[in-house]
Amino acid sequence: MIVSLEGSADRGRVTGALAALGLSVAAVEEDRAGSVSLVVGACSAPVEADVVARIPGVRAVSMPRSVHPRVSEQGAVVLAGGVEIGAAPVLMAGPCSAESEEQVSACAAALAPLGVAFLRGGAFKPRTSPYAFQGVGLPGLRWLRDAADRNGMRVVTEVMGESGVGPVAEVADLLQIGSRNMQNFALLKAAGAAKKPVLLKRAMSATVEEWLLAGEYLLASGASGVVFCERGIRGFDTSTRNLLDLGAVALLAHVHKLPVIVDPSHAMGRRDLIPAMSRAALAAGATGLMIETHPSPADARSDGPQAIPLASMAELVASLGIPPRAALRRAGGRA
Ligand code: PEP
Ligand code: MN
Repeated sequence: MIVSLEGSADRGRVTGALAALGLSVAAVEEDRAGSVSLVVGACSAPVEADVVARIPGVRAVSMPRSVHPRVSEQGAVVLAGGVEIGAAPVLMAGPCSAESEEQVSACAAALAPLGVAFLRGGAFKPRTSPYAFQGVGLPGLRWLRDAADRNGMRVVTEVMGESGVGPVAEVADLLQIGSRNMQNFALLKAAGAAKKPVLLKRAMSATVEEWLLAGEYLLASGASGVVFCERGIRGFDTSTRNLLDLGAVALLAHVHKLPVIVDPSHAMGRRDLIPAMSRAALAAGATGLMIETHPSPADARSDGPQAIPLASMAELVASLGIPPRAALRRAGGRA
């Protein structure tokens, strides 16, 4: 709620009257003409606007159209490294973890000719166990950038903490915020301040509104755009790694008109179901896919069971029914 004050208003008294209604002032805004408005945060009990309008000193009360106005106004297309995400299907693929320069190079060289616009891979890995492989760190970022540049690709890679924003933003065309960090608000603010586009993965138990509000944090902090990524939520059934919520994908794509991509790899946790779920995701309205692949999945240091063998990626991409080189041509990369 935006509460505009009369020129003569006593700000303290208005704030006190709002507090008596259970409302708190989140920010004070002053326009060039010196008119003051109070941005009032959400409260536990709904308060009618006309009750607030009757407080002495209040000139007008307006309700924002959306609780996430910047997300609502963003639009369906986000530009990342010169590639339009949201216009036509965009493919992102690569290993779960950047393990070695050879592995990253082999992935980029095989994926670029398939029309995969973005090379993915984690240099910093969020692992459930502290004893599991944590990523190679900074060298991995360099391998990704170099391999992408050699093959006319863009880079999407995860930033895990505030101190990582600088180095990751230096190499990434699209900063990835992982599921486990979707509501790490300090990280969202720091990542947004890099003023780059961000791929925001949905947390495994986040509602759609929480996901959109996390996107609002990024845009309010300066991100140039947010691409949403559905990667499966926690269900009661353990027969697949997660539950791929294609209903939420359709909602974001068709109702909110936002760019949403699907990561079927982390959703399913097993490679055999990834082709079917990739096609389902595109049918639901996803504007792209993020798929994990590995030259030798049996040797992968993380997420081997869900990695598509690099040699099988051509068959998978062909089965998607999207123009194979469209994404790369738009990116201005080698055809
Ligand atoms: C990833 O994409 O590397 C990853 C860790 O995914 P998520 O955050 O969805 O678990
Ligand atoms: Mn993974």
